[in-house]
Amino acid sequence: MSRAQSSDTESELGDIDQTKLSNVGISDDESQYEGLTATESAPGAADTADSKETSVIIHGIQGRHPCGYCKSSWGSRSYVMIGSKLSCRIYQRLIDRGWRRSGTLLYLIDHSDSCCCYYPIRAHALEVEARKSDKKVLRRWQKRFGMQNDPNLGFFENVNAAGGAELKIVMDTTAYSDEKYSLFEKYQKMVHGDATSVHSFKEFLCYQLLTYEQPQARDSSAETREEISRLLPHGLGSYHMCYYIGNELAAVGVIDVLPYYISSVYFFYDPKYSDLSMGSYSSLREISLTRSLHRLIPSIEYYNLGYYVPGCKKMVYKAHWRPADLLDTISFKWVPIERCMDRIARHPGFCTFDPELDHRNIVRDKSETLAAAMPALNMPKEVIGKDIDSMVIQLSPMDSGNSVIPLPVSRLSTVSKNMEDFALQACATMGPDVVKDVRIIV
Ligand SMILES: [Zn+2]
Repeated sequence: MSRAQSSDTESELGDIDQTKLSNVGISDDESQYEGLTATESAPGAADTADSKETSVIIHGIQGRHPCGYCKSSWGSRSYVMIGSKLSCRIYQRLIDRGWRRSGTLLYLIDHSDSCCCYYPIRAHALEVEARKSDKKVLRRWQKRFGMQNDPNLGFFENVNAAGGAELKIVMDTTAYSDEKYSLFEKYQKMVHGDATSVHSFKEFLCYQLLTYEQPQARDSSAETREEISRLLPHGLGSYHMCYYIGNELAAVGVIDVLPYYISSVYFFYDPKYSDLSMGSYSSLREISLTRSLHRLIPSIEYYNLGYYVPGCKKMVYKAHWRPADLLDTISFKWVPIERCMDRIARHPGFCTFDPELDHRNIVRDKSETLAAAMPALNMPKEVIGKDIDSMVIQLSPMDSGNSVIPLPVSRLSTVSKNMEDFALQACATMGPDVVKDVRIIV
């Protein structure tokens, strides 16, 4: 298990150019918006005004990109959108439908058209049992910092104490600093042999996509509030977990704290501390933080590690902590990983883990789906079943300034076939309920 080897956790989309994407969806043909007015009202439009205010997504594209794991040139296909700002609650729901973010890019991999099968993975942080290699990492830290294992404390409490007075962890915002960048540059160069730039660092790890939100605390006491603000000074949202050894910045863990998850985004460290298994230690600290937060915010239970690719050596570490689940990307149910591995062994290539779904039918259904023919796009049936007349999509055409047009999906075809297709794809990939709560710029 080594997180250091694979800390390019979210590199799947490293080659997609964001500036190109930002132009996607702008049409020269302004007539497509004829008949749309910002004052048009539609049923349900006012119900979720708050989340619309805080979640804006720019209509993206589907595209192929080379695979960061098996290095095949065929690579995989993704459905991609650009987040402008996103509420933690919406992002949580997107993760539970297989989406992931890389900087401001939100992407959903087309599992049926990829060299590798990417399955979202999460560990049950509250039940994680330390394994032999975890204990070894702890001992290494205790030895280095002159700490003794305290038999009265649990494993994770000992992990927290392992750096003694020499280690300080600061929960910082994702704001850029020269100190963080110097560390990132050194790490990329020495560990991955990659050149980098301030611009890509900012875009990938500093842009504040998620809005900070107050969590649902277990009670309203002053003690609870104080304890939460000590652990999460800004509430739910993205953090740079800065590890200082002495007074020097030694490592940064980039995490998203969501209503149910701590989601690990990236980790970089000073290579001079390589002998401390920094990647493994940081994962243990993140699991430990999840457990501490659960006591204050009961909904936070899982440690989310992004996509897992069965059979990929670089990803082995992600399945290290058990119990864990993989997401079935057809039924959107989380399924215990042991059951999934069993099914994967019987169905090489993309498969569903839901015993109620027939694998052969899912593959056959591809011909009936929308243009993209992604497995998730079997969902238009779900969409249509939901009565699209009552489904309202919040659109902001590029040329309409900031005005939002709430429009029933069924009316889009009268405006533009492209917009109707897009709306149905958005419903199918993000889920009909999420789409209603997000403002989408096309
Ligand atoms: Zn691949």
